Amino acid sequence: MFSGYLANITGLRANDPTKNYVPPAINGGLTMPIGYTVFERVRQWFYLNKPRIVGCVGKPKNVGDMLGFMELGVFYNHHGFDVFDNHGDGISTSEGRQRFLQYAEDTPPYFYLFHEGYTDGMLHKYGVDSPQYRQSIIDADTLTAEICDKLKASNPAIIITSDHGGGCCTPTSHGNTPFTFLATNLPIVQTKSFMVDVAPTIYDYLNMPYYAFNPPIQGFSLMRPAPLRVPAPLTMLSKEEVMYGHEII
Ligand SMILES: [Zn+2]
Repeated sequence: MFSGYLANITGLRANDPTKNYVPPAINGGLTMPIGYTVFERVRQWFYLNKPRIVGCVGKPKNVGDMLGFMELGVFYNHHGFDVFDNHGDGISTSEGRQRFLQYAEDTPPYFYLFHEGYTDGMLHKYGVDSPQYRQSIIDADTLTAEICDKLKASNPAIIITSDHGGGCCTPTSHGNTPFTFLATNLPIVQTKSFMVDVAPTIYDYLNMPYYAFNPPIQGFSLMRPAPLRVPAPLTMLSKEEVMYGHEII
């Protein structure tokens, strides 16, 4: 989702670095290879425009590690980000919610990643049918609305998506729930899409020449007619690796 590449290029099969070791990736499979993320490439392409690029993540051990931030805390000028908040409390605390909102400065050009892991935690703790999980979705939705409201004067492109669904094969699991959603105000023309398409859609919106990137981007812009997809090379995975989402066990 953050690169436009599949696991055969990035080596990332889970967001937990300790679980990305088979088969060996370009960089050993620990984190995203340097220079591959949409954040680094947007920063590089628009360097003279000085975009403000901020990441604020709710799961340091998953998303933070995968993006190269191995410690908790706030980091500056690393891996494409001006600011990267790797605290991880996200929307689960009022402090986390306030920080999310503070980072959303409505001063273009900006490029923000707001990731929350609270709903996933409630899923694992209480189950997909629980009131706690339902409330966590409402909380995430409320914060998303507050962020959008704060940014609305600059009319930003907004993409809201997730890495997986929940509830299979037990109510507190997402072992076999690959389907998710994507909501955006971009003029997308495809309804069948994959996570790998998110980054090239952003590149397309920003008029970046993503078709010339090396290695070649594997996803497709959702703002263009459906392409003929060439399946990525298949890799035999162990039973434990055949999971969707961030926790390969
Ligand atoms: Zn989970």
